[in-house]
Amino acid sequence: MCATDSASPVRPDADMAEIAGVTRFWRELGLPGIVDVHTHFMPRNVMDKVWAYFDAAGPLVGRPWPITYRDDEDTRVARLREFGVRRFTSMIYPHKPGMAEWLNAWGADFAARTPDCLHTGTFYPERGAADYVGAAIESGARVFKSHIQVGDYSPLDPLLDDVWGRLEDARVPIVIHCGSGPAPGTYTGPEPIAQLLARFPALPLVVAHMGMPEYGAFLDLAERYPDVRLDTTMAFTDFAEADVPFPRTDVPRLAALGDRILFGSDFPNIPYRYLHALEALTTLGLDESWLRGVVHDNAAALFDLPAPQPA
Ligand SMILES: [Zn+2]
Repeated sequence: MCATDSASPVRPDADMAEIAGVTRFWRELGLPGIVDVHTHFMPRNVMDKVWAYFDAAGPLVGRPWPITYRDDEDTRVARLREFGVRRFTSMIYPHKPGMAEWLNAWGADFAARTPDCLHTGTFYPERGAADYVGAAIESGARVFKSHIQVGDYSPLDPLLDDVWGRLEDARVPIVIHCGSGPAPGTYTGPEPIAQLLARFPALPLVVAHMGMPEYGAFLDLAERYPDVRLDTTMAFTDFAEADVPFPRTDVPRLAALGDRILFGSDFPNIPYRYLHALEALTTLGLDESWLRGVVHDNAAALFDLPAPQPA
């Protein structure tokens, strides 16, 4: 073993191999990188609580869930950059009243110091929600997160009426965890979302996790409402397939909705490596143009990303 420069610590071989693998994945598709619409960055004390919850395999998680990328924030950001992720998000979400506005302040600050993070906001059904959502939009929020399972609120709560109205008017996408995986919540499932879209038909929802496990019913909604998209977060991976396999008969529907499916990873809170989430997409047997859309081009268009600088 040779002496190492303390300023450049030796990286584990597995890390280097993964960086090479992820980079090769998008390069071979002829892409300038990845856009990952579903990554979690949040205040340190909140992230610690989330990790403790996963460690304890709490009821909303339902099974052992080792966190693969339990690093400090700078290391996590650096790793996404090493992977070639051009843009990512900071999915923040409250589980009680009085928390969303504080999270939004953190999200704005994080985006200001992390230019490749799409400024992310959130909300909770509470008095004043439409005002702080409006303020976040005015201050540049590009995407919102709604977590129906953890937040344990109905998307039809009247306190959210003006929130949805503002987001629909401003055409700001909302990544919404509304499927009943990994464990159902009081208000999860497609029915409340169908009612929400009946009232706000142009709401740009991004259904997280492909709506797992109610894949088909959420595909129905995407087929009906042209502004509804889905993110691939955790879907098609060995971890998800073991529990709630995506129905192979619905694969042609994924092809038809190819311009409205966006890659998401749930980094860093995933019980497998990032590369696996990308490779899982190739198990569907869809062509390279579908992969290019999902891994980069669809989200690049949605968020109006500048053309990459030539290398
Ligand atoms: Zn997530």
